[in-house]
Amino acid sequence: MTRVLVPEQIAGAVPWLGARVQRLRGESMGTTWQVLWADGDAARHDEVRAAIEAELDLVVAQMSTWLPTSDLERFNAAPAGTRRALPEALAEVLAAALWLADASSGAFNPAAGALVNLWGFGPAPRYTDPGFAPPDAAAVQAALAGTDWRALRFDAATREATQPGGLRLDFSAIAKGHAVDRVARRLGELGIAHTLVEVGGELLGQGLRPDGMPWWVDLETPPVGSGHARPRATRVALHGLSVATSGDYRRAYLHGGWRLPHSLDPRTGQPVAHGLASVSVLHAECLWADAWSTALTVAGREAGVALAEAHGIAALFVQREPDGCLTETLTSAMERLAG
Ligand code: ADP
Ligand code: MG
Repeated sequence: MTRVLVPEQIAGAVPWLGARVQRLRGESMGTTWQVLWADGDAARHDEVRAAIEAELDLVVAQMSTWLPTSDLERFNAAPAGTRRALPEALAEVLAAALWLADASSGAFNPAAGALVNLWGFGPAPRYTDPGFAPPDAAAVQAALAGTDWRALRFDAATREATQPGGLRLDFSAIAKGHAVDRVARRLGELGIAHTLVEVGGELLGQGLRPDGMPWWVDLETPPVGSGHARPRATRVALHGLSVATSGDYRRAYLHGGWRLPHSLDPRTGQPVAHGLASVSVLHAECLWADAWSTALTVAGREAGVALAEAHGIAALFVQREPDGCLTETLTSAMERLAG
């Protein structure tokens, strides 16, 4: 039977009679985005698209590792000792990322950019390039040396950050979530209260659908080998709620018989390999859902559940057992949403 996750309170006005689901889609941040909202007709599509694109463009201009002129890449390329006042959004995400790096003892690490690039998950060379080979131990050790997030001096009050030298920030595990939050907030400012925002699989729902139902979303279930039971389907009511899922079955590559997922353990320098098929996190803010799903994936099931419990995080872990079957673990905050 489908597991249904619903927030404790469903409140607020219902969309007016005659409202219908409006939809816009596009591409940004190397992925696709989609926004649904309740409105009478398509009259505001141009205005809404412009607002969405402005927010996504801002995140790209500040936080992309694909754009050499982004504020993030300019910080990454700056010589040791360079002090910079960061733009507001970048500073906000950096503060959150540094907090989670401390809280997760480095399982989530925004300063892991050198490692991300080395394993082919940065702009170039990509793991998909012909002839790409995973790095050897010496290269990993060399890259690890530049990944200490505590070496970065950051003053949240003045938004000034100091490049310690060779440190490469990578916000790919948190920026999409932040982009979702920004888009939803901007739509709220335009008077659009009933909306479902998605960027690259990270989602945030606010208000209700025109039919008075919450924005229902089905969590993607990891693939399972033949002969094994599929994990239980899970449906979430995204009412003032975000969901993000990290999974080993997307964007992973096979090398020498090993599956190398794009979540890296910055403490060892290696791709994570402890059998988590996916971790889904529900949170009021998409930035946190996005970042926590990576943090918990890297931590692994046992340490990840403990970490999520300590911070009251609603998470669903799907573990690939040695015999090939999938087992699920829900944290207590997630159990509460399941009723
Ligand atoms: P997922 O949907 O699987 O969470 P994301 O795209 O949100 O994937 O994040 C994966 C990206 O995050 C990687 O491509 C890499 O750039 C970055 N990353 C990988 N490992 C870590 C880590 N331990 N801490 C922070 N960022 C990471
Ligand atoms: Mg993520």
